[in-house]
Amino acid sequence: MKNLKITALVLVLALGAHAHGEPADLIVYGDYLLSMEPGANVLQDGAVAIRGNTIVAAGPRQQVDAQYQASRTIPGAGRVILPGLVNGHTHTSMTLFRGMVDDLDLMTWLQDYVFPMEARFVTPEFVRTGSTLACWEMIRGGTTTFVDMYFYPDQIAEVVQRCGLRAVIGAPHIDFPSPGFKGWDDSFAAAQDFVARWQGRDPRITPAFAPHAPYTVSPEHLAATVVAAQKAHAPITMHLAEAPAESDYVREHFDTTPVKHVAGLGMLDTPLIAAHMVQLDADDIALVAKGSVGPIHNPTSNMKLGAGISPVPAMLAAGINVGLGTDGAASNNDLDLWEEIRMAALLHKVAAGDPTVLPAPEALAMATRLGAAAIGLGNQVGQLKPGMQADLIQVDLGKVRHQPRYDIVSHLVYVLDSTDVVTTIVAGQVLMEDARILSLDEAQLRADVEASAAKIRAALAATEAS
Ligand SMILES: [Zn+2]
Repeated sequence: MKNLKITALVLVLALGAHAHGEPADLIVYGDYLLSMEPGANVLQDGAVAIRGNTIVAAGPRQQVDAQYQASRTIPGAGRVILPGLVNGHTHTSMTLFRGMVDDLDLMTWLQDYVFPMEARFVTPEFVRTGSTLACWEMIRGGTTTFVDMYFYPDQIAEVVQRCGLRAVIGAPHIDFPSPGFKGWDDSFAAAQDFVARWQGRDPRITPAFAPHAPYTVSPEHLAATVVAAQKAHAPITMHLAEAPAESDYVREHFDTTPVKHVAGLGMLDTPLIAAHMVQLDADDIALVAKGSVGPIHNPTSNMKLGAGISPVPAMLAAGINVGLGTDGAASNNDLDLWEEIRMAALLHKVAAGDPTVLPAPEALAMATRLGAAAIGLGNQVGQLKPGMQADLIQVDLGKVRHQPRYDIVSHLVYVLDSTDVVTTIVAGQVLMEDARILSLDEAQLRADVEASAAKIRAALAATEAS
């Protein structure tokens, strides 16, 4: 009888302790938890506790449950929890040019199609619709942070505020006329205004300078960008060393490589998110390793435009944080980062003639921890641990094609597609639950996209008829 009383007392105390666990807003469960911390293995039966916009615990379910009590939970049967993906280079609004023209080299594609169509169609409304379409696709596929570079960046920032994603948004400036601008002077002034307007305004938005490329912006203007970025403590994002035509241009005009050209202008000494980085020699890689540069590898875009193969394994071996990007949907043609993970893992095996190059865990790190570091957000996102921003996803491995399961990372890299993502959370806000997007209206989006596409379709038909 006495024993029974003591047992009951212990039970009451244990239950009481549980009921008074520390409060959390949300606990997300998963049969598997992949924190993406360096050297961390896949944990079975894991959980992540979130308070506000921050992760307060990530670890074994039993431990998290013992310590935290949440008002809301998301179940994890058959699911993997991992950090949200980081898309280090895209042009969100270009989703409206998806499939407009394919199978051309970079310069023909840009000069004969993209630039003229942009001059004709890109308006604030176009950018609002295109970036909403892109954000829908990224939330659906588990991308939680992206780096954008496109016209009317205020529109993009407002879409990001509304849909809940996290973004580094670059205001473009270029030496010739572009949508809304006569040339360098007004586009550069507007970029400075944009950075000043958005800095410190929303913790999910980092404004940045986005000079287009070394072949479209003069050395004097790139140097002015460096001065402005350093003064504002803002990052720069730019296309760099993308294709042979750029290397030829830089050699002809400046007698050097694209990387050495911009290094001479001080661009490697200020936070630089450098998209592509294909045409690099060994000295360029050494310069990048010493500088504050985050190269972003865009394998699908590079393959589609025939730009070449970035020396990613050599950069990783030099200790450089290399991220992944989709580039715009006009040269990809989607924003599925899982495809970039897989393409990166495969492309570098072909290039090296060696199947051990860029193994699955390293390819996945490029889309998470390394990508976050490459874009300057490595202390906020890309890993699941206490103190980091609560940017995480759940992937469903319950489908028949995911059977059997021996190695979870193998499935994530070599089997998964974007429709397997079922939950997307950014800064503690659930943007998608059970594969249903909560922060955007799909029917409205479809109507807006169709209205924009009808105008572009009519213009293409008129171009072809003339
Ligand atoms: Zn690009």
